[in-house]
Amino acid sequence: MTKEAYQELVSKISYHMDKYYNQDAPEISDYEYDQLMLELKAAEKEHPEWVTPESPTQRIGGTVKREAGVKVTHDVPMLSIEDVFEKEDVVRWIEKVQALHPDAAFSVETKIDGLSMTLRYARGEDGRLHLSLAETRGDGLTGEDVTLNARVIPDVPKEIDLPYESLQLRGEVYMDAQAFERFNERMEKLGKKPAANPRNLAAGTLRQLDPNVTRQRGLRMLIFNVQQGPQELTESHTGGLALLKEKGVPVVINERCRTAEEVLSAIDRIGEMRGTLDYDLDGAVVKIDQVAYRNDFPQGSKYSSGHIAYKYPPEERVVVMDEILVNVGRTGKLTFTGLFHDRETGKPARLCGTSVSRATLHNQDYITEMKVGVGGAYRLFKSGEIIPKLNGCVTEPPEVFKAPDHCPVCGSLLVREEDTADIRCVNAQCPAQLSRTISFFASLDCMNIIGLGETLVDDLVKEGYLKNYADLYRLKEHRDELIEKGLIGKEKNTDKILQAIEATKDNDPYRLLAGLGIRNVGARTARDLMTHYTSLNDLMAASKEELTAIEDIGGTTAECITEFFGDPGNREVMEALREAGLRMENKEEQGGSDALSGLTIVVTGTLPTLGRKEVTELIVKNGGKCTGSVSKKTDLLVAGEDAGSKLTKAKELGIRIIDEAELLRMLG
Ligand SMILES: [Zn+2]
Repeated sequence: MTKEAYQELVSKISYHMDKYYNQDAPEISDYEYDQLMLELKAAEKEHPEWVTPESPTQRIGGTVKREAGVKVTHDVPMLSIEDVFEKEDVVRWIEKVQALHPDAAFSVETKIDGLSMTLRYARGEDGRLHLSLAETRGDGLTGEDVTLNARVIPDVPKEIDLPYESLQLRGEVYMDAQAFERFNERMEKLGKKPAANPRNLAAGTLRQLDPNVTRQRGLRMLIFNVQQGPQELTESHTGGLALLKEKGVPVVINERCRTAEEVLSAIDRIGEMRGTLDYDLDGAVVKIDQVAYRNDFPQGSKYSSGHIAYKYPPEERVVVMDEILVNVGRTGKLTFTGLFHDRETGKPARLCGTSVSRATLHNQDYITEMKVGVGGAYRLFKSGEIIPKLNGCVTEPPEVFKAPDHCPVCGSLLVREEDTADIRCVNAQCPAQLSRTISFFASLDCMNIIGLGETLVDDLVKEGYLKNYADLYRLKEHRDELIEKGLIGKEKNTDKILQAIEATKDNDPYRLLAGLGIRNVGARTARDLMTHYTSLNDLMAASKEELTAIEDIGGTTAECITEFFGDPGNREVMEALREAGLRMENKEEQGGSDALSGLTIVVTGTLPTLGRKEVTELIVKNGGKCTGSVSKKTDLLVAGEDAGSKLTKAKELGIRIIDEAELLRMLG
C-alpha cells in the first residue's frame, strides 16, 4: 500500500466512524467497517512509521465528539460520591455526622445510573430565571458545554419562575427503558450493533454534535442538587427540592430522615422500587439535609462534601425457559438464544430498569454445563453494563437441550470445529451464508453496489431471487415482479437499485476478483494480482507455480485461488458473470500500447531505474503478460543486476534476454 492509499483509508474510516458514533447514521455494515479496519491494521503493521494519533486504530470512536465540544470550567466543582456496599458503613457515617451535629437530618434519594449535568440559570428581563448554560461533569473541574442539547430535553426547564439573580442545579441525565429499547430495535433493523446499556447511550446522546439527534432519542433528567443558590433553597436540601418541584422542576425521589433506622428503611424502600422504575438505579444517595453542615466534612476526606452512596447488590430474578432458538450466523456458526419468562410475574423479567426475555446461550458446552432446557428455572443476573446472563440452574429441566445434527436452514450435516465449542454449517450454498457472500460481493471495497444493503440481500435470498452473485445481474428480468411485491420498494427505488447493479458491470476486474470472497484474496491482494494479468481469464488459467512466483503471493493463497477456479460450480458462476456482461479485462490505461501484445514476459534481478511493481504495470499496460517463472512459454526475460536461476534457465531454453533499456526501446 502506498502512503497516499493509506491516508485515503484513514480518512475513509474516520468518515464512517463519525457517521456511526456521532451521527447515528452508519452507511456501511459493521462487517465492511471491520474489513476496513483490518486493512488499516495490516498497513500499519507494515509501516509503523505512518501511524499518527489521528489514526482510527489509536482512538475510540466516541472521542471525536469530545474533541469537538467546547470546554467549560465549573463554578462549583462536580465531585463524585463515596460508595459503600455495607449498611454498617452507612450507620457509621451517620453516627460520625451526628457526633458533630446532633440535629443533622438526612435525605435519602435514588441514584440514577446516568450522567451528571449542571444547569446554570440567570435572571432575565422578565424577572424569571432563564437557562444560560448546561455542562457535563467531565473531570469534575472542567466539563463540556452541552447547552444546545439540554434545550431539547423536555425535562430541562428553560425558565423557572423564581426571583433570584442566579441559580445552579445539578441533575442526572438518563434514558428510560422505552427509549433505550426503541433505539436498539432500530439498530437491529439496520443490522447495527445495539447499545450496551442506557447509561452509555445517554452519555453519547447528550454529547451529540447535532441536537436533532439528541431530540429524537428522547433523554430524561431529574434534578438532585442545588449547586449554588439562595438560602431559601439550601437551608434544607429536601426543602429546596420540594420548592423546585412546586415550580415545575423535575426532582429525584427523596425522603427526609432523622435517624439511622429511618435512613436504612428508606434505602430498602428505594431498593424495592428498582424493578418498577423505568430507569436504572445504581444505588441510594444519603446526604446531610442541612447544606451548611456539609462543609464540616472537608473535600478529600472519605466523607467528602457530606454525601455517601449505598450500592445495592446486583439484581437477580428467577426465570423459566420457554424456548431455545437456533440460528445460523452469517459465517455458518450456530448461535443459541434462550427465551424465558419471570417465574414470579409470568412476564419478561424486570432488571435494572429494562425488561429482559432472552439471553444468549453461547454454545453447547455452556448449555450442557448450565443444564439449559425447556421448563428449567434459572437465576438471571444483570448489573450495570453487563448484558443479562444466566447465573445457575434453580430447577433442572426434564431434558437438557441438545444442538441439532443438521442445519436448520439448509438441512446439511453440521460440523463441530476442532479446538472450539463452535458448531458450523459448512455448506457454501446454505442460504444463511449466501446472504453474507452476496453482501460481501456488493460491498464498498468489492463491486460497490450502492444501496444494496444486507437486509435487502437477505430478503432477495429468502424470496429465491438470488442463488449466487451472478443472479444479481439477472434481477432486472424480474423488475415488474419485484415492484409488484415491493421487495425493494416502489418503481423508483427498484429502478435505482437495478441501475446501480448494472453500473458495476464496467468495474475494474480486481473488484470482481475481490468480491468472489476467495480466502486470502482481499481487495488489496486482488488489486496487486490484477497488475500482473491483463484479464481475469488469464488469472483463472494460472497455475499454482505461476501464482507463487508473483511477489507477496504465498503458497496458501495460490492454492486458494486455483482451488476456487478449479471448482466446477465456481466456474459456472464465472461464466454466468461473463455472459451477464461483466468486464473481465483491465482497461488499457492512458499511454498504453500493444507493443508487447501476445508476449509472456518474466522479470528478474534488480533493474537500474524501474521497481518491480512499476515494470510489471508497464508490461501489462502495453499488452504483455507478466509471469513469475521461466518456462517454454516464456517469450522474453528482462534481466537486471544479480539475476539468478531464472537467467540460467532462460539461457538453457534459448529465450531472448533483454535489459531495461531494451525493454524501454521496445515501448518506444
Ligand atoms: Zn446450512
